[in-house]
Amino acid sequence: MSRRAVICGGSIGGLFCAAFLRRAGWDTIVLERSRSELSGRGAGIVTHDLLIDLIAQAGASTADLGVQVQDRVAFDLAGNRIATLPLPQIVTSWDRVHSLLRALVPDGGYHLDKAVARYDDQGDSVTLTCEDGSRFEADVLIGADGFRSALRGQMQPDVQPVFSGYVVWRCLAREADLPPDLRDQVFDSFGFFLPQGTQILGYPIAGPGNDLRPGHRRYNFVWYAPVEAGELTDMLTDAKGIHHPVTIPPPLVRDDVLDRMQAFARRHLAKPFLEILARSERPFFTPIYDHLSPAFSAGRVALAGDAACVARPHVGMGVTKAAADAEALARHLSAAPVIDALAAYGTERNAAAALAHATAQRLGRYIFAAPDQGHNHDGSNNPNLARIMAETAVVPAAPDHPIT
Ligand SMILES: Cc1cc2nc3c(=O)[nH]c(=O)nc-3n(C[C@H](O)[C@H](O)[C@H](O)COP(=O)(O)OP(=O)(O)OC[C@H]3O[C@@H](n4cnc5c(N)ncnc54)[C@H](O)[C@@H]3O)c2cc1C
Repeated sequence: MSRRAVICGGSIGGLFCAAFLRRAGWDTIVLERSRSELSGRGAGIVTHDLLIDLIAQAGASTADLGVQVQDRVAFDLAGNRIATLPLPQIVTSWDRVHSLLRALVPDGGYHLDKAVARYDDQGDSVTLTCEDGSRFEADVLIGADGFRSALRGQMQPDVQPVFSGYVVWRCLAREADLPPDLRDQVFDSFGFFLPQGTQILGYPIAGPGNDLRPGHRRYNFVWYAPVEAGELTDMLTDAKGIHHPVTIPPPLVRDDVLDRMQAFARRHLAKPFLEILARSERPFFTPIYDHLSPAFSAGRVALAGDAACVARPHVGMGVTKAAADAEALARHLSAAPVIDALAAYGTERNAAAALAHATAQRLGRYIFAAPDQGHNHDGSNNPNLARIMAETAVVPAAPDHPIT
């Protein structure tokens, strides 16, 4: 008789878990809190060879995964290219990865509008209870329910994501809306702008419907901007005066918050990114938090993806880490009894997550250049430019020296 895994969370992490476990012969049930099918509002995702291998191992096609860029380019304030680094990479979108994985999981095993509330681990099985009172029995329960995970909240109530001191604004413009000279300037490369006190990186992604044809794609950039705790509270308050703890849904961001961002952008952003911002859909922001759970499992319950650890986006590892968690879970569960398998999974993946977490924090610190590092308001004189260009959005390598 096949064993049953219940997976809490039907986003990229939960779908990877379902796909890998189904291939290993498990019966899977995915419970997703959202009432409607998920969509990522077009956010970009940088891929790595490791992620492409894992997507293929999960059983999905990697054909037409995204847009191929050949190199990385840094711009100064005026838009001059000041550095180039050859680094071929495929850049894709959250929606593309999600839809590839969603197709691997039959609708009968994927339940929307199921908010998981709590679990009870009885030793020989685990019972999950949803907020609507429905209950599910399983051999294994997986918390892939994101960085504010309800399952982690029960397993490790003291582990809370910590605000990093900055937010990321995300902007997305249609290629067809950009003037030809701007398209030529930015579309073939992974772009950077690295002045003192802020940081931008941008790249092309497919257009709606995974349209990869030149002229039909979109350009996506993320812009890290420091924010004081008091200012963040204001930014997370909507026009009706309601404060949204942690994150605010994009449509509720107040117009005056957007106006302030636009005014700051006009003073500080490199010309190509300013022009893209002017043609972008309504930008939205996400405060950057991070956390690393000290344990990725307890008994018959495991944490995966952002529920287990959030490494700040500088490493571009969220999706790859979630995929590698899922692969490791299925591999260990095929090799040992459940409780031993989850313990081995936790040891293996906690170490990998800790490396991504520490590397991302170090890359984040480069935003805040030390005063003794000289004048760099136009992005042309960043002493860490080569390191940032080489280490951002690549799989972190184990350091041969302590991480500073
Ligand atoms: C600006 C930015 C840029 C990024 N860029 C990259 C990049 O280039 N490359 C990359 O790999 N990653 C990137 N990431 C990270 C990546 O998007 C995430 O790491 C990844 O999507 C995590 O997936 P997840 O399934 O673990 O969590 P989530 O996507 O957060 O999914 C959790 C799911 O659980 C559901 N849920 C929550 N609570 C419950 C509950 N109680 N019951 C049932 N369901 C529940 C939620 O509705 C959600 O669908 C970026 C993130 C940001 C913010």
